[in-house]
Amino acid sequence: MMKTIDDLAVDGLRVLLRADLNVPLDGGRVADDGRIRASLPTLTALTDRGARVIVCAHLGRPGGKPDPAYSLAPVAARLGELLGHPVELAADTTGPAACAAVAALRPGGGVMLENLRFNAAETSKDDAQRGLFAGQLADLADLYVSDGFGAVHRKHASVYDVALRLPHAAGYLVKAEVGALGRLTANIRRPYVVALGGAKVADKFDAFGSLITAADRILVGGAMAFPFLVARGDKIGTSLLEASQVAAAADLLKRATPGQIELPSDIVVAAEPGGSGAVVAADAIPADQMGLDIGPQTAARFAAALFPAQTVFWNGPMGMFERKPYSGGTRAVAQALADGEAFTVVGGGDTGAAIRALGFAEDTFGHVSTGGGASLEFIQGKTLPGLAVLEQS
Ligand code: ADP
Ligand code: MG
Repeated sequence: MMKTIDDLAVDGLRVLLRADLNVPLDGGRVADDGRIRASLPTLTALTDRGARVIVCAHLGRPGGKPDPAYSLAPVAARLGELLGHPVELAADTTGPAACAAVAALRPGGGVMLENLRFNAAETSKDDAQRGLFAGQLADLADLYVSDGFGAVHRKHASVYDVALRLPHAAGYLVKAEVGALGRLTANIRRPYVVALGGAKVADKFDAFGSLITAADRILVGGAMAFPFLVARGDKIGTSLLEASQVAAAADLLKRATPGQIELPSDIVVAAEPGGSGAVVAADAIPADQMGLDIGPQTAARFAAALFPAQTVFWNGPMGMFERKPYSGGTRAVAQALADGEAFTVVGGGDTGAAIRALGFAEDTFGHVSTGGGASLEFIQGKTLPGLAVLEQS
């Protein structure tokens, strides 16, 4: 059984809290604070109970060395705003500044360590190297709490190895994610409809394959649609496509039951992302134009397909929602989920950001997952190292 923080005595103890604070930045400010907000319940529960909390997290891919562009300073600032008091950021992760900050912690207080990925050992494939770093992290604390769901599919020092070295438990976010995503792996209420989109297409094909087994219908939008359109013989102009994906899409079409995979019938196109869009049939994208959103007919079809669903998983925006002319498809899917009765799970960092940017309240949806890759691996039934290690005592 996975223990949670409710099973731990924390009063006065130093708790190393691994959070997922990997948020998008825009000019040195946090552009979407969804992951920071999602980390608050565990953090405040621990401080309310008198723990001395040491928050650790990563931001972006600094490449294993300190880089001010990837400092957690903007995240610490935003966290402080949300908590109503400043959050101190130690200048390093396991060095003298971190040790001094931890030594100065009082019960009920908190400090954040600098970006874990400033240290190459955090993500190293070498067990000994990771273990050394995890040992240094463990030396800072008495207990370890795992709440960074977005990273639990990674065998990283702060996610996996440190849990081998300290008494540990899951935080409320990890518990909520496991509970909600679990409803997509067993005893699924049907019809189960999946909407897949976004731009990280290759990363999602594995999950797509297992969703063919699990889901009744799969609605495909975003740049995810293009390899499928090419596989069935359409030309897609200058739309985003990696040629290697076409064979994988053709294979998925072959494996699916007839009608199980639904592709766009119309597409919003433009010569470049800046322009205002025009709607064309999906099999008639002009050679010099790119597809940037599903068209209104497709949006209506997808909404109709989502309406009778009892369970929905949505990963990946239906278009380049960041620009208004291409946000209609994503908005239509979000609205259909808001109107429907289904238990809905929204996965994917950008998908969560999209619903917030489009003004939908998170509690409109059954669960908004903070983990993109982690949620996709979870629903495939894979073993996630950062969860498996919590099962061990
Ligand atoms: P998630 O983080 O939710 O898993 P992805 O990272 O796969 O989603 O993709 C999100 C990105 O996909 C968004 O930035 C969006 O602009 C982009 N996108 C969606 N549709 C298209 C498209 N037709 N062409 C180019 N980019 C697209
Ligand atoms: Mg993304």
